[in-house]
Amino acid sequence: MKITRIAYSTRLNPGKYAALAEQARRLGRVRSEMWQRYGSFAGVGSGLTDRQVRDRWLADGTHVQFGVLANAWKETVRDAMGDIAANLASAKVEVRRAITRRTTDPVERTRMFTALKADQWAQDPFLARQMRKHWKRGRNRTHDQIVVRADKHNTGSDGRGRLWLAVPGLERRKMVRIPLSSTVAPTGTLRLILRGGRVEVHYQIDASLMRSSQRPCGDATIGVDKGYTEALTDSDGGRHGCGLGELLSSESDRLKERNRRRAKLRSIANTAALRGDHQKAHRIMANNLGTVKRDRQAVRHRARVRTEIFTAVHRVVDNAATVVAEDLTRRFAGRTTLGKNMNRRLAAWTKGVTAEALTNVSERRGSALVHVNAAYTSQACHRCGRLGRRTGDGLHCTPCGVVWQADVNAAINILQRAGDPDIALHTPHHKVKQILQDRTDRHRTRLPVQDSSPALAERRANHPNRSTMSNQ
Ligand SMILES: [Zn+2]
Repeated sequence: MKITRIAYSTRLNPGKYAALAEQARRLGRVRSEMWQRYGSFAGVGSGLTDRQVRDRWLADGTHVQFGVLANAWKETVRDAMGDIAANLASAKVEVRRAITRRTTDPVERTRMFTALKADQWAQDPFLARQMRKHWKRGRNRTHDQIVVRADKHNTGSDGRGRLWLAVPGLERRKMVRIPLSSTVAPTGTLRLILRGGRVEVHYQIDASLMRSSQRPCGDATIGVDKGYTEALTDSDGGRHGCGLGELLSSESDRLKERNRRRAKLRSIANTAALRGDHQKAHRIMANNLGTVKRDRQAVRHRARVRTEIFTAVHRVVDNAATVVAEDLTRRFAGRTTLGKNMNRRLAAWTKGVTAEALTNVSERRGSALVHVNAAYTSQACHRCGRLGRRTGDGLHCTPCGVVWQADVNAAINILQRAGDPDIALHTPHHKVKQILQDRTDRHRTRLPVQDSSPALAERRANHPNRSTMSNQ
């Protein structure tokens, strides 16, 4: 498994930056060309390879117009091809979900899954409709990246111990040397991203080489609930990543305050421009409304949140051989756009990071990750299964006469879902509610069930021997 690492340039000469940015801009045109020509079903969807595209372009001279070195555009073709394929694959994830919602017949499901996988969905009206719905034709938005193949770059350190990375420029045999702030040399294929006068060098390392991957996992089975104040609460009552809430709310406050100040400055600049004071307007735009510092702060904040969440997951895996969690990659219908609401955007993003951390850490440390249906896990009492009332952090269950810690209760419910005979991962929301209600109703009508587990009670109640059992 691969992990992405980032090295940054430090005090890079502006001339070199401009030359790299120009190269990235030209390679952006290569990407746009790729999306335009092959971004559809007829292109990547038909099994075209990057080698075939390269041969075609070499034959018809397409590559000449870009004005970049051969290796640079070829690597970019390969990279863009990967992006287009990823775009197609993510549409298929949605369509697979639609298939499981549409039918429970295993034969029919398999038929549709197979057709989808083999890109033979055009013949099936349902699949074709779903693909049209979920596969939005993308376009290239990347104009600031350069992909450098492993054998095309090298590093060396100078007399003062500073690390330099040399990458190809626009001219043959003229390498651009970039001073790095790190002391670890980037390896393998590099992705240079040019942002705000600084070069980010993204590269991948093998996760098995990381110290955290050597740590063994625990031996328990633990349910986790994703929260906002804490990254995760587990079914044993443990809380992990307790700094998350503070990180998110302070960032949200800071952004609100900064956006307010920027809006004010922008209006001052606009007024000055209207008055004819272009010098002042320009000064404000350049000095007070720049994006470099803002973008760097955003990067730093994201890194902090990631660390908090990954640490939380590691803490859970310290004790767990199996982690049971909600499938956080799942998107819910009806909330496809997040709009401008910053808190909601932040929440959606942290959800994605938590999903990534759970998969990533489990895989590296050898624990199993089990996804379960989380419908009503935050509202149902884990002891009796009835829906309770939320009061702040508590969940009040009247029949039990208990106020549970809401997130611990949810984590226990999630854990129990892993062994639930009736509620599967894709059981619809309303059906889950019905199942929960049926179970508690059965309790009320006093079927002679000795076992306290509602799941077992349900199975016994449906058992063919039920009449003899209840004949007393
Ligand atoms: Zn209860």
